[in-house]
Amino acid sequence: MENTEQNNVKTETKTSDKILHERFTEYGANAREWIEKCKMLLPEIAKRRIWEKRGFSSIYEYAAKLAGMSKDSVDNALWILRKAEGKPELKKIAEIKGINSIRPVLTIATVETAGFWAEKVREMSVHTLETYVKEFKKADSFCNVSKNYYQNQNLFPEIKTETIQMEINPATADELKKLKGSGDWDELMQKFIELYKEKLEAQKPETTQSDSRHVPIKIERYVLARTNSTCAFPGCTKPYEILHHTARFSLTHEHNPGSLVPLCKAHERLAHLGLIENEELAPNEWRVRGVADKNSEKYKIDKLVARYRAAPG
Ligand SMILES: [Zn+2]
Repeated sequence: MENTEQNNVKTETKTSDKILHERFTEYGANAREWIEKCKMLLPEIAKRRIWEKRGFSSIYEYAAKLAGMSKDSVDNALWILRKAEGKPELKKIAEIKGINSIRPVLTIATVETAGFWAEKVREMSVHTLETYVKEFKKADSFCNVSKNYYQNQNLFPEIKTETIQMEINPATADELKKLKGSGDWDELMQKFIELYKEKLEAQKPETTQSDSRHVPIKIERYVLARTNSTCAFPGCTKPYEILHHTARFSLTHEHNPGSLVPLCKAHERLAHLGLIENEELAPNEWRVRGVADKNSEKYKIDKLVARYRAAPG
């Protein structure tokens, strides 16, 4: 009995690590929320020169003394909100997710497309959004090229080549030059790629039915060899982080080496948001798209995954 009483006294006087941590987290989240509210007021404070009327030497002094804000964060907030001027949808989402959440779309969102982009801010992390905007700009310029092409039949799209510099040892260089002969480099490289693909294809493992999401090692090796562990999205050279089931494991319960692709985190997120066009085709056919197909089975599964990921812990 005595022992239990002693223990009770102990728990009352000393706050546990868990509670201490929870309090800190809660106060921190509140502090951030209130600073965000201050940031939203800054453009109007600046415009009406309220800092001056209240006897401060600058808006920086005003924000530092009254809210503990640094000069950089004042400049950052004013810049972002000036860019969001006339785009109420973006301002609204900035109020909910914080000012920095809209930064990636400031260079692409117009008055007409602000609603579309606000929706993307709502559903993506800053990192995924940055990747999406980059792909979107590329796809957009691609569309313009083809539009011009169709409008003017005499205008053929320019065939672009790319120059790659390689550091290789002289013996390898000599062999390569011989193999190229009077042909061109592109032909030779295509040949190598084809040979590499054929070799891999010969070792392609069988599709495995499974209840476990864990990809069997044989399949993993094959899938990673196809891109040398690089993200498979066109133009992306980041190392892969996730083996992605383009046909969604929850729907098929199988690991099919033909529909597994290595992706970086941002491109995997875009796939699960339903924003990759032609996902069932080879990755070189992939494009980002503006709106997900909300009726597909995949989309429903992806929504569940998103909810699972957002759940605390
Ligand atoms: Zn990627």
